Amino acid sequence: MATLTQSYVHGASARPLIGSTIGVHFDSIAARWPEREALVVRHQGVRWTYAELQREVDAFAAGLLALELEPGDRVGIWSPNNSEWVVTQFATAKAGLVLVNINPAYRLAEVEYALNKVGCRALITAARFKTSHYVEMLRNLAPELDAAAPGELRAARLPDLRAIVLIGDGCEPGMYRFADVPSLATDTHRDRLAVLAAQLQFDDPVNIQFTSGTTGFPKGATLTHHNILNNGFFVGEAMNLTESDRLCIPVPLYHCFGMVLGNLACVTHGSAMIYPDEAFEPRKVLETVEAERCTALHGVPTMFIAELDHPDFRRFDLRTLRTGIMAGAPCPIEVMRRVVTEMHMDQVTIAYGMTETSPVSFQSSVDDPLERRVSSVGRVQPHIEVKIVDADGRIVPPGVRGELLTRGYSVMRGYWGDPELTAESVDDAGWMHTGDLATIDAEGYCNIVGRSKDMVIRGGENVYPREIEEFLYRHPKVQDVQVVGVPDLKYGEELCAWIRLRDGQSALVDEIREFCRGQIAHYKIPRYVKFVDEFPMTVTGKIQKFVIREKMVEELQLQVVQTA
Ligand code: AMP
Repeated sequence: MATLTQSYVHGASARPLIGSTIGVHFDSIAARWPEREALVVRHQGVRWTYAELQREVDAFAAGLLALELEPGDRVGIWSPNNSEWVVTQFATAKAGLVLVNINPAYRLAEVEYALNKVGCRALITAARFKTSHYVEMLRNLAPELDAAAPGELRAARLPDLRAIVLIGDGCEPGMYRFADVPSLATDTHRDRLAVLAAQLQFDDPVNIQFTSGTTGFPKGATLTHHNILNNGFFVGEAMNLTESDRLCIPVPLYHCFGMVLGNLACVTHGSAMIYPDEAFEPRKVLETVEAERCTALHGVPTMFIAELDHPDFRRFDLRTLRTGIMAGAPCPIEVMRRVVTEMHMDQVTIAYGMTETSPVSFQSSVDDPLERRVSSVGRVQPHIEVKIVDADGRIVPPGVRGELLTRGYSVMRGYWGDPELTAESVDDAGWMHTGDLATIDAEGYCNIVGRSKDMVIRGGENVYPREIEEFLYRHPKVQDVQVVGVPDLKYGEELCAWIRLRDGQSALVDEIREFCRGQIAHYKIPRYVKFVDEFPMTVTGKIQKFVIREKMVEELQLQVVQTA
């Protein structure tokens, strides 16, 4: 690349974008590598070739059409990682449906909001996960389920939802069983799938993912076939994936990291998707890499830290590993070095992106010099443009910090049902304003140096303080509240709430945390709560969150880490 004179990069590439839908592309891969292993799910004992996965996908897709779902309808999935998740991902794409990822950690208030916001007509759900009893929660939201025939739900609080499909062996009133759905299909439904394959367009929405909201509510980023199929493909290219690769995927499928950087990167290259467990557990990852001879491994920094620091780490043979991706949060340079030397991932890459851009914009390549690979997020991805701008929207010189803007095939269609919020994020010229602060050097390498948005990333999960503040305002004793992120060695950041109580009130920290339990996801519950009489303010009356953060760092003696 020529030396840059300004912070604008374009991923010029001779490799064209894929111009088909996910379903058509999936079929072409299954035809090319029918006998190669496609999916291994350790905790379910599943081991399928591409031909077998295709049969499962087609059978379930026809069953979904038999549920009277029409192209464009939204279908939620609320489940940890399993084979049903990946079958649903490709079956919905083939049937022209829009898959709506519901975070497995969501609690009542969040799941009700998400299902209604995008009007899900069907929900595929696990029975439970960790301490969340999904069936009970759904019955709590829709008591009408008990008397409803499967597929005919009419619930006051979930007005659009008609069908619930239960994953697993259980049987619940008002719900279909996942395994029974294929048998609902007739030849008419199967024939319709073939017709749809020719009709669906790659610019059709295929997926909605909720991102924590700046406005207090999660926003549904709407992504097309073109968005995520191509991102998955080029992310796989950057790792040199081939049909011989076996990628261990411990990251959650409900997020782009699992379903795009994991599933779609594999499927576009004929590689094997290997799930070590339904959720992240470091020992299971290490066991899986050894037993399945994985060549690649993904994770957010927190996961790699937990694997490297596991007491049994040295017992496992990880020499088959070659590559993988660390992403989702600032990547500590020291952890990257250890991943290269102690986990043998000498071609590990860092990726940077956000859900709204499918997600990846920058990724280091396996040929970048090691020093560059551990200390930057690499260079711009093929076909994508990025510029760094100052507060007036002007492109800055190389090396100067500013806000990172992304444009190209990867930018989402918009936030579902929120044109104003979309217009605030994607400008008239098509640039997605990421809210991340970055620099691009003269050779095009990028560093993420901070965030202009006031988002916190705890263990790879994004949280907008505003959402937690809105929730805590509902507590009767809370007068005012400010939430910030503070540094944490294990999770990258932890949430901290400063609360001013109403006059004459007193409260315990536990009381505040208890108020959150069951209503909002565990990772959104502030680890630190402090009752204060006032917040630090500027002379103009603006609250200075950074001062709250600094005070907590000092008070709790927290350490700050150097990142790529
Ligand atoms: P999400 O929408 O959940 O994918 O989160 C996107 C946000 O995560 C970005 O806007 C960044 O703030 C942050 N992020 C993702 N990858 C990286 C990275 N490699 N380094 C620093 N921050 C990152």
